[in-house]
Amino acid sequence: MKADRYRFDGTHPCALRALPCNGKQDDLDKEKILARTAANLEEMAKLQDAFYADGREGLIVVLQALDAAGKDSIVKHVMGGLNPQGVRVTSFKQPNGEELSHDYLWRMHKALPPRGSIAIFNRSYYEDVLVVQLHDLYKGYKMAPRTLEQDKKAFFEKRYRQIRHYEEYLYDNSYRVVKIFLHLSREEQRERFLARIENPAKNWKFSLSDVTERAHFDEYLDLYEKVINATATPESPWYALPADQKWYTRYLVSEILLDALGRCCHEYPRLAPSALAELKDCRDRLKAED
Ligand code: AMP
Ligand code: MG
Repeated sequence: MKADRYRFDGTHPCALRALPCNGKQDDLDKEKILARTAANLEEMAKLQDAFYADGREGLIVVLQALDAAGKDSIVKHVMGGLNPQGVRVTSFKQPNGEELSHDYLWRMHKALPPRGSIAIFNRSYYEDVLVVQLHDLYKGYKMAPRTLEQDKKAFFEKRYRQIRHYEEYLYDNSYRVVKIFLHLSREEQRERFLARIENPAKNWKFSLSDVTERAHFDEYLDLYEKVINATATPESPWYALPADQKWYTRYLVSEILLDALGRCCHEYPRLAPSALAELKDCRDRLKAED
């Protein structure tokens, strides 16, 4: 699949600046891509039905990106093709007081889906090694000195390890985690911000912090690269997808979801002979009503 070239599973390094932010190199025909996305969404809904009925595995899709990269649009257009009964979307914002008084994985764990369901994490525990690292937020946390009074590098190396272990824990407990980074160019971010400001249906999404964070664009890119390389594994891979063309990003995400659902158990439960006999009996009774 096309998304494979953007997949990182720890077997080769991810160099974000060498990766495209648009699909030009993939030789795209927009009409075809739109048609394939529609076909993928249909296929995805079918697979999800079987995955839900099967109920042996859960799927967590982590969406990470800088502002205006299209996370919300992915949730709406790609995940919108799924049956809402088996999907739970959680958007992780700045942690509130209760969340901050717990370990950083606490709020994630509360948002885990039951097996047979899909959780979409719109931002995630990865913020705890991204924004928290970039702005030294952890230094203000109310935590024991032994946890905070260590070298910054050591603090975040520990967090990378904790995240790898957490994802391994999830995998061993019958969940799959797929992580998607939307790789937006600096120029396209600027265009989208300007469009947001102009558009009354979108300007509510804009905040001053979007511009202040943009000043750290390059630092974020470096950090994302580090984080992706520290946490990509074959069981919980990262995808760093070109995000400048929303229609192409949506297509790639539909491929990834289809692939992920296909890897999860998705067999309709087989009924035991006694249950089948019961069904037959019910059918006979209903027919007798004619
Ligand atoms: P948005 O996704 O644009 O609605 O914004 C959510 C904001 O919450 C972003 O600026 C994130 O960086 C921020 N955020 C999410 N998780 C954390 C966290 N653990 N610590 C600090 N800020 C966070
Ligand atoms: Mg935002």
